[in-house]
Amino acid sequence: MPQMLDSDIKYLPGVGPKRAELLNKELGISTFRDLLYYFPFRYVDRSRFYSVREIDSSSAYIQLRGRITRIDKVGQARSQRLVARFTDGTGSIDLVFFKGIKWMEEKLQIGPEYVVFGKPSVFGQSWNLVHPEVDLATEERLSQLGVMMGVYSSTEKLHAAGITNKFFEKMIGTLLDKVLGTLEETLPAWIRDQKHLAPLDFALQNIHFPGSVQDLSRAQRRLKFEELFYLQLSLLRQKSIRMRADSGVVFRRIGDYFNKTYEALPFPLTGAQKRVLKEIRSDVGSGKQMNRLLQGDVGSGKTLVAVLAAMMALDNGFQACVMAPTEVLANQHYHSMLKFLAPSGARVELLTGNTKAKEREAIHAGLRDGSVQILVGTHALIEDTVQFRNLALAVIDEQHRFGVEQRAKLWSKSAVAPHVLVMTATPIPRTLAMTLYGDLDVSVLDELPPGRKPVETVHWTENRRGDLYNFMRQQIALGRQVFVVYPLIKESEKMDYKNLEEGYLHITEAFPAPQYVTAVVHGKQKAENKAYDMDLFAKGRAHILVATSVIEVGVDVPNASVMVIESAERFGLSQLHQLRGRVGRGAEKSYCILMTGYKLSNESKQRIELMCATNDGFELAEADLKMRGPGDFEGTRQSGLAFDLHIADLAKDSPALVEARELGEKILADDPLLERIENRLLVEQLRTLRLDTTVKDYSKIS
Ligand code: ADP
Ligand code: MG
Repeated sequence: MPQMLDSDIKYLPGVGPKRAELLNKELGISTFRDLLYYFPFRYVDRSRFYSVREIDSSSAYIQLRGRITRIDKVGQARSQRLVARFTDGTGSIDLVFFKGIKWMEEKLQIGPEYVVFGKPSVFGQSWNLVHPEVDLATEERLSQLGVMMGVYSSTEKLHAAGITNKFFEKMIGTLLDKVLGTLEETLPAWIRDQKHLAPLDFALQNIHFPGSVQDLSRAQRRLKFEELFYLQLSLLRQKSIRMRADSGVVFRRIGDYFNKTYEALPFPLTGAQKRVLKEIRSDVGSGKQMNRLLQGDVGSGKTLVAVLAAMMALDNGFQACVMAPTEVLANQHYHSMLKFLAPSGARVELLTGNTKAKEREAIHAGLRDGSVQILVGTHALIEDTVQFRNLALAVIDEQHRFGVEQRAKLWSKSAVAPHVLVMTATPIPRTLAMTLYGDLDVSVLDELPPGRKPVETVHWTENRRGDLYNFMRQQIALGRQVFVVYPLIKESEKMDYKNLEEGYLHITEAFPAPQYVTAVVHGKQKAENKAYDMDLFAKGRAHILVATSVIEVGVDVPNASVMVIESAERFGLSQLHQLRGRVGRGAEKSYCILMTGYKLSNESKQRIELMCATNDGFELAEADLKMRGPGDFEGTRQSGLAFDLHIADLAKDSPALVEARELGEKILADDPLLERIENRLLVEQLRTLRLDTTVKDYSKIS
């Protein structure tokens, strides 16, 4: 009965308008359905009683059985609290109440046996349970225990309003009583049969109130699969609809632009580059619009792939553009493209926020009349004033920094939707890519150009700073250059700049001028100073470049062979890997030195060890996803992910994700627009889950 699930949560008995407002504000729960799908984030085994003696700093929610030996009111007026001493024969703990003191005072008695449940915390020298659940250890209460109990995540405000775990249990219990038996299945029977999934009623009952460990895991399997399945189905359906709706510009021929560029290359393409170019060629020749994600580790040669793809557009009389997330990167693309493009005579221009007005106008005019064939730029490129004569290919570098909306803006640049090639150097684990870029086809450059030597990575602590400087001197004496990078994190920006300044001073003391030249680059500099210092290093006139992590995305200096990362423990894995990718681009053996403090958290230690153990970006990305979870994964937040996962976890549930995607693909292969009567439930469910919005937009086109 879908109508009932749409009811306002305030109408659930025991909730009322005030709590409803809080639930909505704090947790986004506004309907019966929202509450029904608000699952416990973990479970405690309530069949087990802990003893006070066992409590330590790792204790989460625990259950104790014992007696109260004294009750005191402590403190004055507003800071007053009720403290009940509780003992179970192995030790004592204080039960503390700041609220509802009067009520608890009446309820608690010295003598009888209680079951208490809560999360231990330390106050002063001793263990406390703040606002625990307290029940008399009656036969009845004890018989209710003995199963897994869900723990709902809550907030302080909710707690203060009496919306405790117990309250959640009560509300959800009431709700389940109301709706179980009336709920319509949300997965077709044939899918449940084929995948051996529990019925919806069973799953919802047991996700909240598990009958046993096995029942809980059946419930989880069903709900996770369902969540991933509908997510994939919606992504795949969007793709399928777009494939039908958007006819792509056809690039029929390969001509002089491509051939001249290709023949003038100073090196052969890698096998992976050839394969990806074939994939692109087949897309742009198909009559459908291309939407392809190109993943390739740092240094795998993505730029060249973009250049050759652009040449395909030019050969067919079209324009192409390359969009980069930063000025530095746009500049670099422009310059490396110039080099490749010279033999073909193609005209390429650079447009950024810094382009002078007069030059800008000339570029705009050239774009309109078609004489500018390739435009490289930053966000400036999608401004409304920029109009192309016939843009047919857009290459987007480092897409995760572009919002989905910005991507959409590209569509308005041209009469037909241009082909889109998204390039990313942040390797994304397959399962995450399936979801973040679920509507794109994926190509992988999984091969580095020959002759690259893997970067040797070591971890040193402060006591080896002398060794570090000696090593830098040796390398500089061999004619190499050195990066020294400091973290830059918004929250501690001030401190970071201070560290960088101090570091710069140390370096210039240890490497005095005129024998050594040290350049410095950071975000607080004036643009021209930054450009000057960057140039100094890029041209080989500075031996050392001290920088914040802004260099992460830029500069190709093949002669730089050492990357020193200060406070390396503060960087995420993929960022460390990106930074490391700045060296090892030339023929020389390169080194990455991770400097850290002595004390490292377990997680930092793991990260640093992994960096030392492997050069493989994909391996690191998988590990990163496992360690940090997808929520923290670089780019996940900005990517415009239009959904929240309630129960599935992109890192842990990848087998289910793959299964769900394959099922979605099979269904759409038979019924690309989900028009058949037997798929009606699927369409309805997508609508209920609000996973059909993009689809609506597209249906206007078709
Ligand atoms: P990415 O953008 O993937 O990090 P780049 O496109 O910047 O990598 O390429 C890194 C370097 O490798 C550049 O100097 C480029 O000219 C060079 N390169 C690209 N393809 C090849 C190849 N097939 N063989 C040798 N060097 C290559
Ligand atoms: Mg690049």
